[in-house]
Amino acid sequence: MVLQSPLQLTLPSSMVPTDGRFGSGPSKVRHEQLEALMSAGKHVLGTSHRQAPVKQLLGSVQDQLRTLFSLPTDWEVVFGNGGASMFWDAASFGLITARSEHVVFGEFSSKFADVTRSAPHLQDPVVIEAPPGTVAEPQLADVDAYCFTHNETSTGASMPLVRPSSPGDALVVVDATSAAGGIAWDTSQVDVYYFSPQKGFGSEGGTWIALCSPRAVERINSIAQSNRWCPTSLNLAVALENSRAQQTFNTPSLSTFVLLDNQLQWMLNNGGMDWCLQRTKESSEYLYNWATHSSFAAPFVHNPVFRSPVVGTIDVDGFDASVISAVLRSNGIVDTEPYRKLGRNQLRISMFPSVEPSDVQLLTHCIDYIVEHMS
Ligand SMILES: *Cc1c(COP(=O)(O)O)cnc(C)c1O
Repeated sequence: MVLQSPLQLTLPSSMVPTDGRFGSGPSKVRHEQLEALMSAGKHVLGTSHRQAPVKQLLGSVQDQLRTLFSLPTDWEVVFGNGGASMFWDAASFGLITARSEHVVFGEFSSKFADVTRSAPHLQDPVVIEAPPGTVAEPQLADVDAYCFTHNETSTGASMPLVRPSSPGDALVVVDATSAAGGIAWDTSQVDVYYFSPQKGFGSEGGTWIALCSPRAVERINSIAQSNRWCPTSLNLAVALENSRAQQTFNTPSLSTFVLLDNQLQWMLNNGGMDWCLQRTKESSEYLYNWATHSSFAAPFVHNPVFRSPVVGTIDVDGFDASVISAVLRSNGIVDTEPYRKLGRNQLRISMFPSVEPSDVQLLTHCIDYIVEHMS
């Protein structure tokens, strides 16, 4: 049966994933997280962020992040308002002394480079660029911060985190916004691992979280003591001081922390990072195997080593990917559209720990079914 308009296609219900949210951020929020808002949230939402219940909640998030990532005891978990984009601004004021290097291989990594390039108090950054779908290689340079992106959410490429061998006091600052919780990393290779909670942790936007090594803390404090001007809301030393007291400089979104706390509990109760990695591995192996053997689909990232286990980008040949996404959407399966500025005939599918690997499998069946009815 060939339909007049494939947009009217109804997918067989046995084929439809149990949850249709495949967006790369905001991403799927599990039902139990919403229940936590209704139950635990009652004692927290609508109460002062300077009193014990909210401080305990922030402390619990800090403790659970320490456990999940096996952080050395001298690392600090720092919070601030504004999300990862705001952290770039904060880092330009409070983490980079004079000059940074940026490994740019997509939209998000390039945005941080733009921030430091336009900061009047910093020298022009060193920018190592590679085309979308590949990964750029860091190069040794006379810089005091190497800025990496663990997972380029715009392209579905993931870079290995390896500390450059020199200069010795340069910090390794990693945008882990979509990677955190879904891709492995080693604390010995990193000084700052920062992210927003609306991706791998299925919480809400508007908060940044930065895991900081002692060297990073030292840098933050030494810049704060210099005479560089910094807006207080972007001051990392102020954020650090507040985080040590389980607080934020100004009022945070309490529901974000309730959702995040519940997600961390879920991850840890199921086996922690190993379990999360197993899930993202299972989902992504399924997706990339399917695409590799498909007659019309192919992984956008050619080198399997750099294919993201959490954000899969699949090029489509011979069919309009936007029609596939539209049919999926009309069946309740949403946010499979590619990153808007990449401009490819592509599907982008998130496989964060919350996403059931079996749902990724069902999704590929749905795509096959739609394409069969388009031909
Ligand atoms: C989403 C994303 C950001 C931006 O996060 P916001 O919370 O919207 O500021 C930055 N970097 C990466 C890699 C992302 O995926």
